[in-house]
Amino acid sequence: MASNVTDFTQDFAILNQRVNDEPLTYLDNAATAQKPQQVIDALTHFYQHDNANVHRGVHTLAERATEQYEAARAKVQHFINAAEPAEVIFTKGATDGLNLVAGTYGEAHVQAGDEIVISIMEHHSNLIPWQQLALKKHATLKYIGLTADGELDLADAAQKITDKTKIVALTHASNVLGTITPLKQVAKLAHQHGAVIVGDGAQAAPHVKVDVQDLDVDFYAFSGHKMMGPTGIGALYGKRALLDATDPYQYGGEMIDFVNLYDSTWTELPWKFEAGTQNIAGAIGLGAAVDYLEAIGMDQVAAHEQHLVDYLLPKMLDLDYLEVYGPHNPAKHTGVIAFNIKGIHPHDVATALDMDGVAVRAGHHCAQPLMKKLHQVATARASFYLYNTQADADRLLNAIQEAKEFFSHGSVEAK
Ligand code: PMP
Repeated sequence: MASNVTDFTQDFAILNQRVNDEPLTYLDNAATAQKPQQVIDALTHFYQHDNANVHRGVHTLAERATEQYEAARAKVQHFINAAEPAEVIFTKGATDGLNLVAGTYGEAHVQAGDEIVISIMEHHSNLIPWQQLALKKHATLKYIGLTADGELDLADAAQKITDKTKIVALTHASNVLGTITPLKQVAKLAHQHGAVIVGDGAQAAPHVKVDVQDLDVDFYAFSGHKMMGPTGIGALYGKRALLDATDPYQYGGEMIDFVNLYDSTWTELPWKFEAGTQNIAGAIGLGAAVDYLEAIGMDQVAAHEQHLVDYLLPKMLDLDYLEVYGPHNPAKHTGVIAFNIKGIHPHDVATALDMDGVAVRAGHHCAQPLMKKLHQVATARASFYLYNTQADADRLLNAIQEAKEFFSHGSVEAK
């Protein structure tokens, strides 16, 4: 299946190009994924045929747009196995969803002396909202640590989560270490202490089957653009009882029931949290991305990426000049592989790799506290998706070898 790239070449025209005279090897999927033609077509079709505002008009185009927008919500609902569409709120992305929870539920429930628990591997999007809430409320922010091989330390989680904990916020998959966290176990711990759990699914939802009911998370946020959907759209899952009891995030059109001179009432879920004109085309594009992934099957997507990691990770670990972060056991490692060539700045490495057509990211990956913990300022990061192949892994290995030689000897064959 997915290990045969010819299945995908026709869907991803962007991948069929040369960069710096080399075939493009796109390994920056943790930053954003490429979009299949089906998603691009869904956007174009909407704008060419059905564009209108939703929920406002009775004319045919408004009805069509509304129908497609709500159909996209139902697709997302099924994708994460939420109990009902009303539990899926369209957002701008994971960052927006996490800020929504901190700014509404968090704002209402965290008081002075309470505790918020996150982990040291959080992306800034799932760190700063809680840090700032804790500062504002005079609450305590606690960090769950890591095991020696870079996994979430469950024993530490059991220590840090107490009866004072009001919120536990945890990434479902690290954007640096390539680990899947035991979100379900941590949710159980949180609930035993009367806390709610917020999952950051930005790096998990695109790559593994997510079942929010099985995980028993209270909130779960993710971004469309990392799962082949458009930018500027994402979804926040929340349990109905919690969302119902939570005040709106923003005020404006489309989220009200009645507006009086001096007070107002809110409409029902999920629209209570969708003030103003939403990213209608984006939601429909996200629905098309869900269709695309579902047609392949999330188990297949995960299996394909695992196959690539099984192939690549041991080869990277064999290179003594390379430092590879996160678990060394491929079975515990997702398709996000952060690494450094010892003694060479990751920005130089990424620039050298780009000369070979290999696109990777270099930087702190919006995880500065984790970088500090790893005693690194930055790393390079290769991240895979279902259209990547073993040949891409080989090109990465070759490019790393060439970069190492270039920076060691100060020269490389002119191209
Ligand atoms: N959480 C994690 C783990 C991420 O990797 C990212 C994106 N790099 C985000 C949150 C934020 O996603 P977005 O920028 O799409 O809101």
